[in-house]
This record gives sequence, C-alpha cells and structure tokens, in this order.
Amino acid sequence: MSITLKFIDQIIKGGISLIFPPICIGCDEKLDNLNEVFCEKCWNSLIPLKQDFIDKKTIPDNLEFVLAIWLFDDLFQKIIHTLKYQMHPSIGSKMGKLIGEKLFIDFELYKKNTVIIPIPLHPIKLRERGYNQAELIGKSISIATSIPILDILKRKKITKTQTKMNREQRMKNMENAFDINITINSNISRAILVDDVFTTGATMNCAAKVLKKNGIKEVIGLAAAMPE
Ligand SMILES: [Zn+2]
Repeated sequence: MSITLKFIDQIIKGGISLIFPPICIGCDEKLDNLNEVFCEKCWNSLIPLKQDFIDKKTIPDNLEFVLAIWLFDDLFQKIIHTLKYQMHPSIGSKMGKLIGEKLFIDFELYKKNTVIIPIPLHPIKLRERGYNQAELIGKSISIATSIPILDILKRKKITKTQTKMNREQRMKNMENAFDINITINSNISRAILVDDVFTTGATMNCAAKVLKKNGIKEVIGLAAAMPE
C-alpha cells in the first residue's frame, strides 16, 4: 500500500471507529487497542489451571505429560470460537504470546534438542479457515521462549468433529490421521505438541505416536485450555 493510500485507510478507520467504537466481544466494553478483539480485562479473567487439575485427567500413552494453561469455560469458548470461525488470527498470536510468557521459565529446561510442533489442520480445512490456529499459537510461543517451531506434521485424513464422541470413538477417529513430511533430524529428541484444546488427548496421542515412530523420544502436550 502506498503512503497516500495508507493515510486514507487510517482516516477511514479512524472515522469508522469514532462512529462505531470497537467493542470487546467478551464484555461489550470499549476497546482501547483497535487491533485487539478481546480486552485485557477479559484475557485476565481466564482461569489459570493448576497442575493437580491436569493430573486428574488420563494422559494418553504417547505423551510424557500435558500442560494446559486455562480452564475451558464460557469465556475461553467465546475466544476460541472467534479465533477459529470469525477470521481473527490475531487472537491466536496473542494467546501464544501469553502462553509463552507464562511458560518462559519452565521452558528454560527444555531448550536443548527441543522443537515446538503445532497440530496441523487438513489442507481442505486450512483452505476454508485461512490459517491454522494451533500454528499461530505455536509461533508466538516459539518467539516468546526461543524454542524453534517445526511444521513437520501433516494431516492425511479428514477427521469428524469429535465434540459428541467418547474417548474410544475419538481414538478410533484419529487413527492414522497424521504423517510427517520430512525426515526428522536426529538431534531432535523432544517435541512440544501445541493445540488449542486438550479434551481426551486423542488428537495429540496420535500425532505423538507418529513422532515417536520417527525418532523423537519425548513428546509433551501443550494446550491452551482443558475442559472440566
Ligand atoms: Zn472484554
């Protein structure tokens, strides 16, 4: 965009925001930052999870352990829905930045031989959505923690929506859903799999199985949220 066009664009955006001031989708309050979709107060209202909450869940076989940051409550659901279905990729970047800052100290331990791997979308879904929310989250975590991100997983099967499935059905649904697209460098011994939500872990477990089959020794699951 040329400087003149940029200037006109700014004037139009400024005019629109004077008539229709941008409102936070979470609480309907006026937003201070035009580039945000949810206000700081809403982000700060997300409920952080304690490790004993996560420890009560069954962790699938192929994951060493699981980290999840927030409770999947109504507010988180609103945020993730807006990210996935309303074309607001900036939410994914913001979410990853917050997660990266929270885990920065813990991840100091994991810097060596570790990579962040986002759970991929099937190419058809990616085309529909325009971006992969897990990749946006993973990229910002990578920037905040200096752990490199590797986009080596691919989804070879279109899986059904798992909302109404039980644990076994989810495992079956995810069977053989992933593959890798390059040979994994033998220096990499640990992967941090990143996804938006961890429910039963069926998705992460299948992805971890493929990574382990290809030489990665340890796989840690990292999700933005986990339901009760
Ligand atoms: Zn708000």
